[in-house]
Parts: sequence; C-alpha cells; structure tokens
Amino acid sequence: MTIDFDNSYARDLDGMYLPVQGAPAPDPALVWLNEALAVDLGLDPDDLRSPEGVAMLTGSAMPMGASPLAMAYAGHQFGGFSPQLGDGRAMLVGEVLNRAGQRRDIHLKGSGRTPFSRGGDGKAGLGPVLREVLIGEAMHGLGIPTTRALAATTTGETVWRETPQTGAVLARVADSHLRVGTFQFFYARQETARLSKLADYAIARHFPELAETPDRYLAFYHAVIARQMALIAQWMGVGFVHGVMNTDNCAISGETIDYGPCAFMEAYNPETVFSSIDRQGRYSYGNQPVLARWNLARLGECLMPLIAPEDPEQALPEMQSALEAAEIRYDTLHRKRFSAKLGVSEAGDALINGFLDMLTAQSADFTLAFRKLGQAARGDEGPLVAHLNADPRLSDWLAAWRPQLDAADKMDRVNPVYIPRNHRVEEALRAAEGGDMAPFHRLLEAVSDPYTGRAGFEDLETPAPEGAGAYVTYCGT
Ligand code: AMP
Ligand code: MG
Repeated sequence: MTIDFDNSYARDLDGMYLPVQGAPAPDPALVWLNEALAVDLGLDPDDLRSPEGVAMLTGSAMPMGASPLAMAYAGHQFGGFSPQLGDGRAMLVGEVLNRAGQRRDIHLKGSGRTPFSRGGDGKAGLGPVLREVLIGEAMHGLGIPTTRALAATTTGETVWRETPQTGAVLARVADSHLRVGTFQFFYARQETARLSKLADYAIARHFPELAETPDRYLAFYHAVIARQMALIAQWMGVGFVHGVMNTDNCAISGETIDYGPCAFMEAYNPETVFSSIDRQGRYSYGNQPVLARWNLARLGECLMPLIAPEDPEQALPEMQSALEAAEIRYDTLHRKRFSAKLGVSEAGDALINGFLDMLTAQSADFTLAFRKLGQAARGDEGPLVAHLNADPRLSDWLAAWRPQLDAADKMDRVNPVYIPRNHRVEEALRAAEGGDMAPFHRLLEAVSDPYTGRAGFEDLETPAPEGAGAYVTYCGT
C-alpha cells in the first residue's frame, strides 16, 4: 500500500507534538469504510481493506511515509484552564492532498496511549466511534462544516467503561486539527516564537490569502471569528447541541470537531442540554453563540503578543471590537438562516421569535415543525396546526407570515427531514454492539441525504415516543 503523504505539521512545527506509536490490535477488523471519502482522498478502498490498510486504520502499524504524532494542546474545559491536554488517545497519521488539491489530516481516535494520556487508557469503544460516524456524516449531509469519518475498526480488545465495550478506533479526516487550545498551549508557556510559527502555519493552511496582509494576525483573528460564527449559525439552524464546547474542541478551520456528548434537539427549547456533566447548562443549545465568542476571546488573548509584540495590552481594543463585530455578524447570519427556514427573504425578529415561541410553548419538535411549515407554504396547513396543538397564536402568525413568503420552493432544501434522532442512534449502536450493523447502515443512509424524504424511512422522521424520558449523553466516550 502506498499513500502519498505530505506531512506539513510534522515538518514545520517541530516541538509542537510528540512522535507516537499506536497500540497493537490483537484482532483488527474493518467495521465500516467511507469509500467515497477514501476515493476523494486519493486512497484505494481495496488497499484500506487489506491487512496493511486495517493496521493503519487501527494505528498498530503505519505505512511508509506516515509520521504518526500526538499534537500538544491546552484548553479551557467548562471554563477551567488545563495547560496540558493534547492527543491522549489520538494520533495524526499524516496529511494527504485530496483530488481537489486540498490538504487533509488523517487522524485516529482510540489508537492507544500517548505521552498526553494522563490517567486515560487511550482507547475508544465501538458505540462512541459509530456515534461520531453517524453524527459527523449527518452534519456533512446537512451541509455543515465538519470532520468526516473515514473508517471504523475494531481492535479485538475489550475497553472498560461503566460497562465492557468492544474496543474500536475511528479514522477521521479534517481540514486540520488545529484548535484554539493549540494556541493556548504555547501562550500559557509564553513561547511566543512558537506561537507565531503556529499562527503562520494556520494562516498558510487555512487563510493563505492573508499571508501578505500587513496586519496578518489580526486579519487571521477576524477570519477565524467569521468561520466560527458561520458554523454556529448552521448548528442553530438544525438544532445541533455540541455539548462540550471547550476551547480544545474549537477548530481553527471552522469545522465541527470532537463529537462527544453531542445530540440533536427534538422539542424546541433554548435551554436544551444533553450532557450529563453540564449541570449548569453552560453548553446548552441557546448558549452556543455566546460560548463560541467566549472561546474566540481566549484565542484573541493568545494572538495579542503577536499583534502588538511591544505591549500586548495595546491590542485589546482591536480584539474587543472584533468580538463585538462577531456578535453582529452572528445575528445577521442567524436571521438569514431562520429566514430561509421560514421561506422568507428577510424575516424580522418578531416573525422568527413568534414561531419559535410557539414551538417552546407546545414542546413541538423543531425539525418537523419547519418541514410542516413547508407543507403549509404549499397550501396544506393541517399538519402544522396539529403539530402546534392549534396554538392560539398560530392563525395570527400565519397571517403575518403568508404575505412575506417568497421562497417556499427552497424551504425543503434548508429544513431536513432526517436528523440522527437520539433514540434511533442509540438503537443503531446497541444493535452494532450485538453484531447487527443493519440499523446503523439504514440510519446512515437516511441522514446522509437529509433533505429528501424517502419511502421506507418514515419511522426515522419522528421524535422519541412520549414517555421515553429526557435523553442524556456521557463524556469520556
Ligand atoms: P475529549 O473529551 O475527547 O475532547 O478529550 C479531552 C482530553 O482528554 C483530550 O486531551 C483527550 O485526548 C483526553 N482523553 C479523553 N479520553 C481519553 C482516554 N480514554 N485516554 C486518554 N486520554 C483521553
Ligand atoms: Mg476533544
């Protein structure tokens, strides 16, 4: 097997990672392969299925040209700073250029201990690995920037969590694995030379058009903010709750990264939280835009010594105005997204909030509500009226909305039919742990093409049955 690696991180950022080796896998097996993605990366799916390919995908043996490494990073976790996190159960295998010439990381999660593992075992279980496949591919299907799953393998080991799990490794692909926390690692150590090297690397990789601008670090900050605000507006439009928006899970590339206790909201409520450890609701659905800006403020701190080397404090007003602009930018993007969801070219806050308020009051499913609104746009109001339990405000709202409706035909292209509903994800993962991959494949097929309703998937459209109880997700997956 030959892979045309071109490992810029290993080459250019000496001192910002540690070389690692994956753990041996006693009985490696490929569970799932994303063939289309493999082909796009210039990888031969048959090679990846071969023993050598599976060895790479579990991390146990590397092909020529790979430079497996664990990246150093720090991070604010639930507001508290950890100066050293790093890839504790992950490794960057190497980078390739895809068919469009874009650089992509090939990265493993669950491949064994590294010098950053602290007390952890470096491993992952099959359930959480397949969960990241399902949710990440659903996000991609929805058109939201995300890391993508390339393969899921099992190692033949048992991984011990609350219950024994099948040991597994996720191979994923990203524009890069640079995080806000990567910058924080070197900022906290006052390693300014490395910090500027890292920033220059990030600019060259993600924003090459900024390389020659005079204030390139400030321009870089603005560019990262823009991508993050666009990303969060997209999350909000589909009811995605990341669940653990720590600065180490905030990608400079603007991709959604590190699917842990994430989930999609069903009944609309801005206070929705799924993660068992998020007792304060820090990372609730409605807080995500605020928390994204909080994370970006931490990035701003790291960039101040680069923007104003003589006296970093001098950069403060510029960082603050960048964040203020971020808030305005986010509001605009959010309004645009929800306008499109309503089939209106520019909806006012009253129209958007009026609809969302009815959803909250009726605990109505967020995804279905917009799809039924699409039906109402085509003249059939009945399903929406039933969905909103004939909310007393609905007829006035419809009367205000209908004259503004000017993009009804586009509504079904922004309002998905299929999201990876929590009870369906759990069902698929339980079956997979028992050796039956059929529900996983079926759900993946539905969520990979989420805007087109198809016969035979009706059961995947609807929320968990009443009385199913609140859905809870767990970290440490
Ligand atoms: P996460 O919650 O996956 O974003 O991980 C936060 C930090 O904990 C990262 O530094 C991970 O590498 C590390 N970590 C999570 N799980 C494990 C594990 N099982 N073994 C070693 N490190 C881990
Ligand atoms: Mg993480």
